[in-house]
Amino acid sequence: MQKSKEANWLQKMQFKHPLLIAGPCSAETEEQVLKIAHQLKESDSTILRAGIWKPRTRPGNFEGVGAIGLKWMQQARSETGLKLAIEVANKDHVEQALKADIDVLWIGARSTVSPFIVQEIADALQGTDKIVLVKNPVNPDISLWMGALERLQKANINNLGAIHRGFSTYHKTKYRNNPEWQLAIDFQNHFPNVPLILDPSHMGGRRDLIFDLSQTGMDLNYDGLMIETHTTPDQAWSDAAQQITPQRFLEITAQLRVRNEHASNRDFHIKISKLRKQIDEIDAHILSNLGNRMKIADEIGHLKRIENVTILQKERWNEILERMKEAGATQNLSENFITELFKAIHQESIEHQQNTIQQTSK
Ligand code: PEP
Ligand code: MN
Repeated sequence: MQKSKEANWLQKMQFKHPLLIAGPCSAETEEQVLKIAHQLKESDSTILRAGIWKPRTRPGNFEGVGAIGLKWMQQARSETGLKLAIEVANKDHVEQALKADIDVLWIGARSTVSPFIVQEIADALQGTDKIVLVKNPVNPDISLWMGALERLQKANINNLGAIHRGFSTYHKTKYRNNPEWQLAIDFQNHFPNVPLILDPSHMGGRRDLIFDLSQTGMDLNYDGLMIETHTTPDQAWSDAAQQITPQRFLEITAQLRVRNEHASNRDFHIKISKLRKQIDEIDAHILSNLGNRMKIADEIGHLKRIENVTILQKERWNEILERMKEAGATQNLSENFITELFKAIHQESIEHQQNTIQQTSK
């Protein structure tokens, strides 16, 4: 991603690259916050995160320890020197966070979807020089994400960043929140000077996905990572499955291939990874379209069976092939390629229909 030359808060405040934010999903006890902070002190992490007020999708789950947690965070800062980051979701949270001199405030995915909430937070933060990070909204709509940034900019808040934590989908994928990398890339093109941070914890929802997601973030030139870490992840009061120990955090960040900012071929790697991600997404679409095509072929197989019609109808196949050759030429695809491709697709359709007919004739 092309960054503009203007210095942003990352450079002005001389944060290391990548910026590392780590800490538990939720502050649970004073002892837990301090223990995690001390273990993270040995890593490259410079900001300690913890949820104080937790937005839960369903009621009845742990909803955060509340304002008492701010004291534990302050204690952690004075013992370790780590800066502090918490989520704020209304003006009351903002007031308490500012009073506790929290360094970084983030707006969560469930708040970014609501222009009323974002405006309330922007008004409460008017003119602040605190760092304010905006998570992508739950749903894959970058205008809500952009709108939140714009509301904060209008409130004269300049140290802004964005956090990509993935998007909800109706169909389950291997991710808790689907990355939709292209959306984050588009978002970045609108705000080239706003640092972009990846949250592989909420994106993956599983600790074994964190390394690969983080590496993709580095390959796509993200500015930082926010990773949930807990001394005893399995016992965490929220998001247990996705948290990792501070030791594992250290290993992961040490193994990441971080592109050298000034190497002459850095741009090459960034561009090629971006293009490959696009290709991967297109390939996934091609496959799911082919799967859908075969389902329709199966339905046709049922109809042919009922009407006692042959699977192969030569005119129909020739007509498809001619039409695709013509359409292919307009897309700069050779006749030979189109013929081979559609022969293979047609062959697969025939096999599907054969299966259908044989099954229904049993
Ligand atoms: C969190 O960071 O703990 C959190 C609640 O994340 P999100 O807003 O991305 O769901
Ligand atoms: Mn969490």
